[in-house]
Amino acid sequence: MQKFDNLIVGAGLAGVWTAYRFMQENKTFVLLDLKEKNTSSRVAAGIYNPLLAKRQKVSYNAKNLYPNLYSNYHELEVLLQEKFCYKHHVSYIIENLRELNDWASLSDSDWFSDFVRVKNERISDLVVSDFGYIDILDSGWVDIPLFLDAFLSKIHAPNMFLNQAFDDNSLVVNQDNFQYEDFLFNHVVFCQGTAIDQNKYTSNIRLKPAKGEILTIESQEHLSQMIPQNGVFLLPVSEKKYKVGSNFTWDNLDNIPSESAKLEIIQKLCKWYKAPFEITNHVAGVRPSSLDRRPILGRLDFHPKAFVLNGFGSKGVSHAPYYSKMLSRLIYGDVNVDKDVDVSRFK
Ligand SMILES: Cc1cc2nc3c(=O)[nH]c(=O)nc-3n(C[C@H](O)[C@H](O)[C@H](O)COP(=O)(O)OP(=O)(O)OC[C@H]3O[C@@H](n4cnc5c(N)ncnc54)[C@H](O)[C@@H]3O)c2cc1C
Repeated sequence: MQKFDNLIVGAGLAGVWTAYRFMQENKTFVLLDLKEKNTSSRVAAGIYNPLLAKRQKVSYNAKNLYPNLYSNYHELEVLLQEKFCYKHHVSYIIENLRELNDWASLSDSDWFSDFVRVKNERISDLVVSDFGYIDILDSGWVDIPLFLDAFLSKIHAPNMFLNQAFDDNSLVVNQDNFQYEDFLFNHVVFCQGTAIDQNKYTSNIRLKPAKGEILTIESQEHLSQMIPQNGVFLLPVSEKKYKVGSNFTWDNLDNIPSESAKLEIIQKLCKWYKAPFEITNHVAGVRPSSLDRRPILGRLDFHPKAFVLNGFGSKGVSHAPYYSKMLSRLIYGDVNVDKDVDVSRFK
């Protein structure tokens, strides 16, 4: 029987970052995932942004999560020899004079000064931004499918990627380890996103999943290096090709694109984007959001060597590097999990 340190179930952002953290600890792993097209990580736009600009708030734990985010992904770009992370700032379009005044004073405050620069200029002739915009520092985007595929294709012995479904009934739970098929593991980590409820070992953890949809458009307007946003974002992914989204719904939690979401996204975009465009693609996915909008990680009740990493909601890109590290330090170091993200809150 082959022995490994870790079994990781799920190869989205949570699972892949966990695998990388184990590599950094010189620990072996098997990463198991039935690769599907419409998982949250493969549908996501991949934007990271420390602000909730419309609500004039800094997002949860921003001061820890964002300053090193680009360098975390860049470290993997170097290792994998692939470019998938871009420092293109999100540019929040200021709507009116009141918002402009608010941002003029907020941008000097302790909370915001690290993240915001107010720009008193238009983004372009075809992007209505008469009151200017705020340039959000420490923001950007990651081409997540490219990142995940680069990582999975370069896993090599002694580590392994298995493209197959995990069956919780086939996991043999011993006192000191776990057996799955012909393999023996010291630890198991479940990173299954919204499928958390299909695994009897994690089904007590409640998510509040949110469906979201994204359009791909082609347009002659040339915007690069910035991601205009108000209501929806306009993310330039290659010359004249943009992703636009996203919306949130909490019913019909399937991966089927809907006409109503398409209309909602187009309406929001057309409020400020005045160039003609053609829709070339439309996808939907479901975010693994938690009720309290915090990640979920830590040791599971059923076994001291079983763990979970989940609950990234709409912030997978920024949460995965930081919280995968917290988890690997819980397993291999002497670090405790922060109380407000600890899975024990579901007891
Ligand atoms: C429309 C949309 C837009 C988004 N935009 C952004 C964005 O711009 N920025 C951002 O940071 N986040 C965004 N997100 C959120 C982001 O996608 C998630 O937070 C993140 O991808 C979650 O990663 P995860 O690994 O926890 O889950 P997932 O990506 O769902 O990965 C879970 C994996 O587990 C596998 N799995 C589950 N059960 C089994 C099983 N039994 N056997 C084998 N494999 C299994 C699945 O195949 C999947 O690959 C968006 C999400 C959506 C839907």
